[in-house]
Order: sequence, then structure tokens, then C-alpha cells
Amino acid sequence: MKCHVCFRKCDIEDGKLGFCGARTVKDGVVVADNYGKLTSIALDPIEKKPLKRFYPESMILSVGSYGCSLRCPFCQNHEISWSDVAFSYKNRAEYYSPQEIASIAKRYESQGNIGVAFTYNEPLVGYELVRDTAKLVHANGMKNVLVTSGNASISILREIAPFIDAMNIDLKGFTDSYYTDVIKGNRRMVMDFIVEA
Ligand code: SF4
Repeated sequence: MKCHVCFRKCDIEDGKLGFCGARTVKDGVVVADNYGKLTSIALDPIEKKPLKRFYPESMILSVGSYGCSLRCPFCQNHEISWSDVAFSYKNRAEYYSPQEIASIAKRYESQGNIGVAFTYNEPLVGYELVRDTAKLVHANGMKNVLVTSGNASISILREIAPFIDAMNIDLKGFTDSYYTDVIKGNRRMVMDFIVEA
């Protein structure tokens, strides 16, 4: 089955993983293998996302899983996003449901928490968790932040955008060759994502 989440359009066999290590095929359908399997959960300052003008000096519950469609050699999160260590979380990560994540965020409201940030790895390789959790966070009257490389299709963006209040879309370079040769990405897809956002 073909995955259409990012530019790679991986052909995935049943039970195998795509390049990102986060998506698989079950019963003939491409699904997020990393759904709810968090590698990190922390209450961070909003400036660490980094957002300067979105509720400055507030806190935000930040969650991430494993999996990424890029291979940036300078990645500071590779141990929880795309290294062998990160992929070992497939079998050992603790599961958090969207309901649990939204309720933890609400519990920390008294400590300055404004909502949930989807970050650390590439959240959109597991966009289903972003979508399902962000809806609940909004229902609780809180905010959602997406930190992404922007290597995702417009249809995915349109599915989640109604629930996202702020984004950091990380444009990592300015030439096609930098994207293809250094970080193994696709600059055109990122630019289209930014324009659509
Ligand atoms: S999201 Fe993952 S499985 Fe889907 S096309 Fe991109 S790298 Fe491949």
C-alpha cells in the first residue's frame, strides 16, 4: 500500500514500516504504528517551541513519539525521533490516549499550561494522534501548537489545520540540493505547506 503523508510516498508491505519508521500497513490500510506511543512528554516554556509572540511566558504540555521523514545530520532529537534507539520505542513506549493527553494538559492549567504542543519528532508522520488529541484539547478550551518540518501533504494539513492555533514550520534551508543532499527532504513540499498554512 502506498502512503501519501509525505513526499516519499512509500510502498509499504503489510506489517512493515515506511521510511519514517512510524507508519505501517494493517489489514490493507496505512496506519500510524506510533499512535499514542510517546517518547517524550514535558511541560515546556512556549519559547522552547520556539514561539516568541504566542502567549509569551506561558507553558505548554509538549508530546512526541518516534518517526521522521527527514534525516538531518544535526538533529538534536535523533535519540527519540529516528535513530535505532528511537525506533526501539516501538515496543517499549508508554501508550497515552488522546483523552489522557488532553486531561493531563487540563490538569496543568493551574501551572500556566495553555494546551498541547506536538513536537520532538515529526508529528505529522503520526498525524492521526495530532488530529484526535487536538480536537479534545480545543473542546477543553485550550490551545494546540504544531512544530513540524512541513514535509507533509496539503490534504493532511487541511485535516488538522482547523484544530491548530500556532505552528512552527521549520524551513531548514533555501535550495533544493540542500534538502535532497543534506537532510534528505523535499523543499518544494515544505514551501507548498507553508503557503497553504
Ligand atoms: S509518512 Fe512515512 S511511510 Fe508515509 S510516505 Fe512519508 S516516510 Fe513514507
